[in-house]
Amino acid sequence: MSHHPQVPTTTETLVLGAGYAGLAAAALLAQAGQDVTVVEAHDTVGGCASFFKMGKYAFDVGATTFSGVRPHQPAGRVFARLGLQPELERVDPGMILRLPDGDVIRHADPEAWIDHVAELFPVGDQRGFWKHLYGLETAVYDLIQDKPYLPPSTAGDWIRMADPRNLSAVRLLPGLFRPMSALMQRYGVDADPRFLSLVNEQMLISTQSTAAEAPYLTGAMGLTYPSETYYPVGGMIRPAILLLRSITGHGGQVKFRRRVISLSQTRDGWWEAATSNGERYRARTVISSIPVWNMATVVKGAPQAWYHRYARQYPQAWAALTLYFVLEGVPKLPTPYIQMHVDEDLPFVHSRSLFLTVSRPHDRHKAPEGESTVTVSTHARFADWADRTPEQHREQKQRMVHALRAVIERRVPEFAGMRWHHVEAGTPQTWIHYTGRHNGFVGGIPHTVRQNMLALPRNQTPFKGLYQIGDSAFPGQGTPAVMMGAWNTAERVLASSV
Ligand SMILES: Cc1cc2nc3c(=O)[nH]c(=O)nc-3n(C[C@H](O)[C@H](O)[C@H](O)COP(=O)(O)OP(=O)(O)OC[C@H]3O[C@@H](n4cnc5c(N)ncnc54)[C@H](O)[C@@H]3O)c2cc1C
Repeated sequence: MSHHPQVPTTTETLVLGAGYAGLAAAALLAQAGQDVTVVEAHDTVGGCASFFKMGKYAFDVGATTFSGVRPHQPAGRVFARLGLQPELERVDPGMILRLPDGDVIRHADPEAWIDHVAELFPVGDQRGFWKHLYGLETAVYDLIQDKPYLPPSTAGDWIRMADPRNLSAVRLLPGLFRPMSALMQRYGVDADPRFLSLVNEQMLISTQSTAAEAPYLTGAMGLTYPSETYYPVGGMIRPAILLLRSITGHGGQVKFRRRVISLSQTRDGWWEAATSNGERYRARTVISSIPVWNMATVVKGAPQAWYHRYARQYPQAWAALTLYFVLEGVPKLPTPYIQMHVDEDLPFVHSRSLFLTVSRPHDRHKAPEGESTVTVSTHARFADWADRTPEQHREQKQRMVHALRAVIERRVPEFAGMRWHHVEAGTPQTWIHYTGRHNGFVGGIPHTVRQNMLALPRNQTPFKGLYQIGDSAFPGQGTPAVMMGAWNTAERVLASSV
């Protein structure tokens, strides 16, 4: 059989990429009765929230925490509509923030957390500050619920936005144009550098920006999320597999090892994609979850300028360093998640924290009884790893592993006496290799006041039938956010086909 068919495969909707964004969009459309095909470059699903196996051990590659799963929240709504019940365990405390001088416990209960943080950082009006953040979080979820026309892209969207019931949105708008540091100042909580550093590191893992840069609206979402942190049993891959099964169970197709190398619109208005194995696909609708930087080279014709504009507007995003290992033992920890704050410079690390995820003792998918797998991640810059010879890359990687291991051994006494084995590490080059993402930009587009959520590439492009989702588009990065973009887009596609 030829692997280079001359006749393209025709499908109603073609979805590019099988990370959480692509999977969620495809599953929702397949369930609604659409003929959906997903093409994915890698040999499995999940993208930045995927996994890999080494012997009897399974590791999350990047993302490890689930959130936004309550019924009115983005991931919760997707799972409920599809009738899926992923095995997610709510963790309390949501995480431990291991500061150089002691632990801060991110209690799940907001009141318990506010009491704790006010006692540890008695500066300004901590209580008022946190109440404000939790209030904003609720208001934002109320606002974005059932509004697939956000952000408005067409005249019809603007008309629907003008509904008087949306007036409450106006009250929230300043939060997109003022930084978190301004809100901190208002409550006088910015005076303690230790607290500012805690806020910055928490915001970096959620908004990809610090308090001085990130709008306080998105910052509020990031700072409150540890109150609703869920551990996916078996890893982030398992809910992704449920989404995959939902697609195929509703007649959709997911095709692996097919990198999309070009996408163009033909004269008759159809979209045509070519994949690395020589196949061609034709579809009325294309939903791309390939990041905008990559799309700028994949797409041909008129849409190329649109993608280039965004690629130029957002030339910089975070890359990641990761470390994976097996612990011969089960550390006694109240939560699988530790954000370890460091006050020393670590080679090639561009933040002041490492995020550690330890498999739960009963999670047999990840490690056999009596052992644990650990995934560590932190922020990196592609420039540190660009244009290196293989020897230079190896040497840098060794230095990085050595330094991370030393600081973890010193700062996590819960691991003491437990042998480390199956130690592996990921650099921006590793991420490029596995996800194909331009410059290993895995953090999506950082939220900043100048480039806030509304400036992000819209889900509905100006080109009929072409939609952009994923963490380089509205509403941003993180699995709940990309599932929200997928939900909104599926709604738009369904509305346009009636
Ligand atoms: C280290 C790290 C830790 C994180 N921690 C968390 C966390 O704890 N919780 C959380 O919610 N989020 C976390 N995130 C963010 C989260 O993982 C991402 O925002 C989210 O998974 C992005 O999903 P996506 O579908 O937009 O993109 P991706 O996951 O990148 O998926 C895109 C898919 O498209 C495929 N693809 C790319 N190019 C092509 C092409 N040309 N043709 C075909 N297929 C292609 C890729 O192989 C990939 O499978 C983390 C991210 C990283 C890197």
